[in-house]
Amino acid sequence: MGGEVMIRRSRKYRKRFACGHRGYGRYCHRCADRAARRRAAWRVRQTQRRVWQETFSDDPIELRHLPPAIAEKTRQIVSALEQGTGHWQLAGKRLSVREVISIPVTYRYRLLCREEGDRVVPVKVMSHEDYNPLANSSKRLRHSVLRYNRRVK
Ligand SMILES: [Zn+2]
Repeated sequence: MGGEVMIRRSRKYRKRFACGHRGYGRYCHRCADRAARRRAAWRVRQTQRRVWQETFSDDPIELRHLPPAIAEKTRQIVSALEQGTGHWQLAGKRLSVREVISIPVTYRYRLLCREEGDRVVPVKVMSHEDYNPLANSSKRLRHSVLRYNRRVK
């Protein structure tokens, strides 16, 4: 008898949910609100990510594999080259294969380009670790820079 009274009365009072919060109703509204905010924030991040990913389709070379700051810096260099800035003005230098030009993006990254007539065409961005063995081999340079086909849009 006493137990029945307790059950009826307890409905009037806040209860403790499995999460540890207290409140009214069939589920914890604090946790539900927090989950809703997280889902909303996740959707915002997904949208930002998609917008960011879409910017890559306009790049003449593949930049998706790079950290965002490196991708941005590379775009500035590519844009400067397109506007006619000399590679020497960007601290670029010719490698053992004369038509291959290496331009520093940051200390760790190099933009490899090939000379086509009077144009310097960006080919790929490489980390210093990947770049070093390549730069030391004319054969590998020829293969991966001169014969490298630009991506087809
Ligand atoms: Zn809760």
